[in-house]
Amino acid sequence: MFAAMRFLRLCLSISILAAVSCAFGAEMRTMRYQQCGPEETQKWQSDLRAKLFPLLKLDDLVPQVDTIPFDAKETKTWEMPGFTVKELKIQSTPTRKIDVILTLPKEGKGPFPAVVCIGGHGSRMITPYTNGEAFGPYPANRKDASRIYKGFGSELAKSGYVTISTLVSQHEVYEKGRTLMGERLWDLIRCVSYLESLPEVDKKRIGCGGLSLGGEMTMWLAAMDTRIACADSDGFLTVMDQMEKGHCMCWKFDGLRELVDYADIYALAAPRPLECQNGRKEPPGSFTPELAKKALAEIRPAYAAFGKEDDATLHVHDGEHEIDLPAILAFFKKNLKP
Ligand SMILES: [Zn+2]
Repeated sequence: MFAAMRFLRLCLSISILAAVSCAFGAEMRTMRYQQCGPEETQKWQSDLRAKLFPLLKLDDLVPQVDTIPFDAKETKTWEMPGFTVKELKIQSTPTRKIDVILTLPKEGKGPFPAVVCIGGHGSRMITPYTNGEAFGPYPANRKDASRIYKGFGSELAKSGYVTISTLVSQHEVYEKGRTLMGERLWDLIRCVSYLESLPEVDKKRIGCGGLSLGGEMTMWLAAMDTRIACADSDGFLTVMDQMEKGHCMCWKFDGLRELVDYADIYALAAPRPLECQNGRKEPPGSFTPELAKKALAEIRPAYAAFGKEDDATLHVHDGEHEIDLPAILAFFKKNLKP
């Protein structure tokens, strides 16, 4: 009887110890970028991607990125000044379809550069394209989150880019065994594949951009998909400690913090041009320029490794949690040359 109780107590204390060491003892940021030469940096990048894809539960899909048929079906189409809009259903995984918006320039001669336009929390699929006003069959909606996106997708579409958008602001996991961030990222990766399949698109000039969660997904897409030529990540650059406090926790998944902080994920985009935008009027608990500067200082060494330190930039604007439209347009004009 006493022996049994002693054994139980021993088991209990071992399990408490294990729980405590798990909570406090896990080593953090073990894959932090350490400045080194270009070859070692490239090796660090591919090693880190190889660790992140399984955590995102995408390692089975990655080899199929270009072999899953799109089976694209047009569901709507309409004309806007300067561009044509199509709504399509395409195959994302072998068993799941996604809706996408695709815009094609009416004028000029392709192949055109292209941009994946990404909305954040509270977005609709059309959010990157409107400023709250009507967009084709979609009526004006002043209450939605569109205002802060400044219609950057439409501005790009008018200026000679092919654009694509899909909704990644869901908070449910669609397929068993996947992760939220993994599914969001995969749908964007498939948007890149779909762009590459179009004769209108110049494969070497595909960029991505977005705000808030869209800025976060811009980071992930540029980091994990090397087909992305440049990225404009807005209203997001920060550090993970900040995101632990008072934010939607959809950014986090098992094993992430043990490997990296955001600066390391952004460093996976080096040496491809990166602009981050943060507003001076971001509230203190949010995506402040101060934290963005701190993170940028940890991104730039990876760019310096390739002699491209100046290609990782932070644009601090006078606004709040919003896109600085002239700056994002100038960034893509410089790097994708429409
Ligand atoms: Zn969320």
